[in-house]
Amino acid sequence: MSNILDSSISEVKGIGEKLQAHLNELGLFNIQDLLFYFPFRYDSYEIKPLTELEHDEKATVEGQLIADPTVQFYGKKKSRLTMNLQVDQFVVKAVMFNRSFAKKQLSAGDTVTVTGKWDQNRLQVTVSQYKKGLAKNQEPIQPVYTLKESVTLITLRKVIKEALNEYASDVDEILPENVILNYKLPERKRALWQMHYPESRVLLKHAKRRFIYEEFLIFQVKMQLLRKLQRESTTGNAQNYDNNELTQFVQTLPFPLTGAQKRSLAEILKDMKNPYRMNRLLQGDVGSGKTIVAAIALYASITTGKQTALMVPTEILAEQHAASLKEVFGERIRIVLLTGSVKGKRRKEILEQIKGHKVDLIIGTHALIQDEVDFNDLGFVIVDEQHRFGVNQRRTLRDKGLHPDMLFMTATPIPRTLAITAFGDMDVSVIDEMPAGRKPVDTYWVKGQITERVLAFIQKEVNQGHQAYVICPLIEESDELDIQNAVDLYNQLAEVYEPNVKVGLMHGRLSNDEKEEVMQQFASNEVQILVSTTVVEVGVNVPNATVMVIHDADRFGLSQLHQLRGRVGRGADQSYCILLAEPKGDVGKERMRIMTETTDGFELSEQDLKLRGPGDFFGRKQSGMPEFKVGDMVHDYRALETARQDAAEIISNDSLYNDERYAKIKQIIEQDEHILGKVLD
Ligand code: ADP
Ligand code: MG
Repeated sequence: MSNILDSSISEVKGIGEKLQAHLNELGLFNIQDLLFYFPFRYDSYEIKPLTELEHDEKATVEGQLIADPTVQFYGKKKSRLTMNLQVDQFVVKAVMFNRSFAKKQLSAGDTVTVTGKWDQNRLQVTVSQYKKGLAKNQEPIQPVYTLKESVTLITLRKVIKEALNEYASDVDEILPENVILNYKLPERKRALWQMHYPESRVLLKHAKRRFIYEEFLIFQVKMQLLRKLQRESTTGNAQNYDNNELTQFVQTLPFPLTGAQKRSLAEILKDMKNPYRMNRLLQGDVGSGKTIVAAIALYASITTGKQTALMVPTEILAEQHAASLKEVFGERIRIVLLTGSVKGKRRKEILEQIKGHKVDLIIGTHALIQDEVDFNDLGFVIVDEQHRFGVNQRRTLRDKGLHPDMLFMTATPIPRTLAITAFGDMDVSVIDEMPAGRKPVDTYWVKGQITERVLAFIQKEVNQGHQAYVICPLIEESDELDIQNAVDLYNQLAEVYEPNVKVGLMHGRLSNDEKEEVMQQFASNEVQILVSTTVVEVGVNVPNATVMVIHDADRFGLSQLHQLRGRVGRGADQSYCILLAEPKGDVGKERMRIMTETTDGFELSEQDLKLRGPGDFFGRKQSGMPEFKVGDMVHDYRALETARQDAAEIISNDSLYNDERYAKIKQIIEQDEHILGKVLD
């Protein structure tokens, strides 16, 4: 389909070669790009009653000058111009700096519109823009776009407006009419204008709602189509595992599986038996027992004669998994560990063993995806803490086998609805039940810094033979300061506790060997108190540790706090988590309170979803969630869920291919090379 909107932006009036190059840098190549380059915020010049203005926010005020403006000069070439405006029954003072020339343009009785920061207490505006006359003559809401240095906001506004004037009429509706009517969405062309130049906040909201739905629907249709195509293709392997052997193995376990473990396992095994390639996410809170489920699934595959792999993000984790799985399996299977620190002759040996299928399960880090690793009939792959790996890394590992079944594991307790929608191309299993007999971690919130009482509490636990983690204050954006903080805290605690009790220090700057050593010392109880930055967050298992102290707990997301807390409560003894925090706002306090009241990760994530400001729970792109242009997965999750259901219907009854009303959506999806690539391989 050749479309005028696919033409180069150079067609737009006012875009010469130089500007074109600059716009290209912003990712704007064709007219469509320009039209759909949405503002990230708006400057509002809406006139509101004074009582509705927000303190310290930008506001626009319109009034009549009571007297001529006055000007005071001070310093070198500095000036301050003051106007008194009659606004309804109030007098508002407007102050403008270093623009004394305005005095000549304005005189008593004139109507003036000023925009700037509003001070509710003094009824004063610090003016950034002013204009003689009524506000009505101005554009009420102005778009603000993301910029690079080479293009100014004024220029971008101008060319986008030009593009809208010339080409918005060529923008086609892509949603079926019944959907538009049903959800009362504005029509596409109209919504497009409103996105850039909204006539009101309400119309803007509807326009956004429309594009959010459109974006989510296309995403969901894509994901679900992908999943369907994957299922229909026979390119997978039906793993007809030996049920007897499997049952025997499960009986050797020292505990019965929980209901949730059984359910997840059944889902996984069913996928394995099927001829399509399994693509499943196994979600379960820390300590919920994902590893044993993984072990049983691995074993199933091994009984069919396949080789298997388990990839984890850190060496420490790889070693822990290797040790615990060797214990679980005993002599049943052959396990090797392959990490960056396995070197020289030993490495060569292991690589030979893998290639010659002398081993059944290879556990390792990123080392597994290096070229030199040559698997023999790799049939089943597990990726633990899956969000720590990029798409390409996961794919590289997959491609080392012939359509191996893939299982991804995560301890991030994403609310189920979100997980299903976010990972639309994966099936999701959830372990939402803890093994019996777990003692929930007692959690306390202590205001302020580490106190004598907390120090004494740690001492008391250590006296009973237990160990403690102390997590350092977190300073974002500064590695240097983070380390410095850790060192300071370490010195402080060493002063208090040593020599009778040994304190260790762990942070991101240590080499792998050093980290390893500190971890070993802690695991073997040579070190009783471990001061650490958040590097201990992932998967570390020291059951003898019963205390977790977290500095500046209010600066962490709930999910991260939960992960940290999950480092204790792993043994038979009662464990404790102490949150040191002095949150400023109500939300911060509420978060601390929630932490003290629940230890259920899913409950926490649901609560956080309700409470959080954007970007908190899934903070720092940790969870590998897809990113959207207009919509926000968390904020707009209802729309996401609606889109998911609608997409499921479109895919299940084949409307995408048979129903003319979806022709436009089909076109868009077919243009996506990514999806073609994914389906072809
Ligand atoms: P995670 O989901 O965090 O990876 P693990 O698999 O490490 O959790 O399990 C945590 C601990 O619980 C391990 O010591 C494991 O042996 C134990 N465990 C797992 N399943 C059960 C069960 N059904 N009953 C009792 N203990 C269990
Ligand atoms: Mg685990």
